Amino acid sequence: MHYLDYAATTPVSLEVAKAMMAVLTEDFGNPSAQYSLGRKAKDLTDRSRGVIAKALGAKPEQIFFTSCGTEGDNWAIRAALHQNRRVGKHIVTTAVEHGAVLQCVKQLEQEGYTATYVKPDREGRIPAEAVLEAVREDTAVVSVMLVNNETGAVFPVAEIAAGLKNSPTLLHTDAVQGFLKIPFTAKSLGADYITLSAHKIGGPKGIGALYVGGRAKNTLPLLFGGGQESGLRPGTEATAQIAGFARAAELRLERQEEITAHLAACRDYAREKLSAIPDLCFVGPADAPHILSVSLPGYPSQNIVGELDGKGIYISAGSACHRGKASHVLTAMGLDKRTAAGTVRVSFGPETEFADIDALAKALLEHKSTRFPML
Ligand code: PLP
Repeated sequence: MHYLDYAATTPVSLEVAKAMMAVLTEDFGNPSAQYSLGRKAKDLTDRSRGVIAKALGAKPEQIFFTSCGTEGDNWAIRAALHQNRRVGKHIVTTAVEHGAVLQCVKQLEQEGYTATYVKPDREGRIPAEAVLEAVREDTAVVSVMLVNNETGAVFPVAEIAAGLKNSPTLLHTDAVQGFLKIPFTAKSLGADYITLSAHKIGGPKGIGALYVGGRAKNTLPLLFGGGQESGLRPGTEATAQIAGFARAAELRLERQEEITAHLAACRDYAREKLSAIPDLCFVGPADAPHILSVSLPGYPSQNIVGELDGKGIYISAGSACHRGKASHVLTAMGLDKRTAAGTVRVSFGPETEFADIDALAKALLEHKSTRFPML
């Protein structure tokens, strides 16, 4: 198997699985329970919160566990709008956000909010000025992702935060693809809300976290119920997932520089190998070390993915092409239809070997002219 879709999700290591197993089978108490088994579960959850806080350079009380990155995105945007309800009902975001932000904002438009979607340039980049120029007196929240999941573009969140420092407008960033891939802390980014998700960094699916910073006050919960997570995120804590998230973050933190260098080496090696394929072009800036998008213009990406699947090579057209519709990211970048439809995303993890990339390059070269039907 040659798994090259780490931006979609990642495997859980044995060590992470063991940390989860111990919580599932032994330390399984409810953290709200008043006896020792419950207290142990609460201690473990608090310790995990500390690990995620440390990874972000934040305080433990600023970290709230969520069910996933999608929940964190939805929650942050709605909480910011609630806090700034007297500022106005305008939202600034980008045209290339993940659906977890875009569909949330689209829903908010149905509910009476207005939104400006800042477009990227042809490379997929968005300068801070373009975002700041879209901010108005009635802008309650700006939501700009840190790393784009399709192109690997890194957006200037810190610069945007600096531009909003003296304004009441709150800033949210979806850092799901950036966390432990590019170096940052809550302070260096300066965003008021930061969304994280475990399954992009070797943790389990179904657990994420939202960082809520100092300017964010009286946070409105998304769900209402019990008093968990300081009353802001009710629901019995997903203790095993939380333990797995923390263990995965710890393991990444221990080797962060080495892993980042490895990811970048994989991306650069893939760029070199794939550039030998006739007509192949690179899409987007691939600023982040783990994401590389390429296109074979005229060859539908779902066919490429299907062909490679038959050879045990896993890459993604999922983000790039949803049910035959061109990706909103590539469309916003102004890519022509043939290039957009032929775009696939290759993404790397600590486990990626150069041999995986060799297999991909060989398969693309062998099959390109003979097997992929042209559009
Ligand atoms: N934001 C970005 C940029 C993502 O890439 C993803 C996952 O693909 C999400 C949000 C959603 O995260 P989750 O799958 O944890 O809901």
